[in-house]
Amino acid sequence: MINLERFPLLIAVSAPSGAGKTTLCDRLVAEYDTIIYSVSCTTRTPREGEVDGKSYFFLSDDEFDRRVKAGEFIEHATVHDHRYGTLKQTITDAFREGYDVLMDIDVQGAAQIREYLHAAPADDPMRLAYIDVFIAPPSIEDLQLRLWGRGKDERQVIQRRLIMAGEELKRWREYQYVIVNDRLDESYAALKSIVSAEHHRVRRTKTVR
Ligand code: 5GP
Repeated sequence: MINLERFPLLIAVSAPSGAGKTTLCDRLVAEYDTIIYSVSCTTRTPREGEVDGKSYFFLSDDEFDRRVKAGEFIEHATVHDHRYGTLKQTITDAFREGYDVLMDIDVQGAAQIREYLHAAPADDPMRLAYIDVFIAPPSIEDLQLRLWGRGKDERQVIQRRLIMAGEELKRWREYQYVIVNDRLDESYAALKSIVSAEHHRVRRTKTVR
């Protein structure tokens, strides 16, 4: 009968800060033991409780540069004054172990991955696996309230984030899926159905007549 090959998923999720991306992604990873976070590299310093190799790979600027030059990143970008990047190796290792990979990356990173995969062979496992989701707040005013409400950032930081959010929001059309995060439970249900549908989608590695 039908011989189903299980294709892994490479899921990029982007959102302006405060849109609820972390809550939604954490819930997905907690519910599905087949989905793991891709551990990114960053040049920012660890926050309290963050563990090297788990939260991020914390690299010096020089080490980050060396890896850029060696072509080790599938994407890398500067976000809020720090550098972030996803190693190709992190994704291939996770695929080899049978996991779906969730990447919490910014809009620049997602654009670079699309470009990279566009140039890759049609049967490249990462190309077959890739999907992207943009999480948007219902409005900028709502985002403003959420950022003030969480009370963890300074006024200047919030103002900068809001300016950046406006820029990021303009790019939602670049994504395959968009979730306007008004009610958390509904947004989470939408995210789950996207993942489920993508698991059932037929991947065409050859032309089918
Ligand atoms: P934070 O420093 O708060 O952990 O992350 C700040 C921002 O960096 C988040 O919006 C997150 O999406 C983005 N980010 C984290 N890892 C990566 C990465 O590997 N690549 C890119 N392009 N952005 C990342």
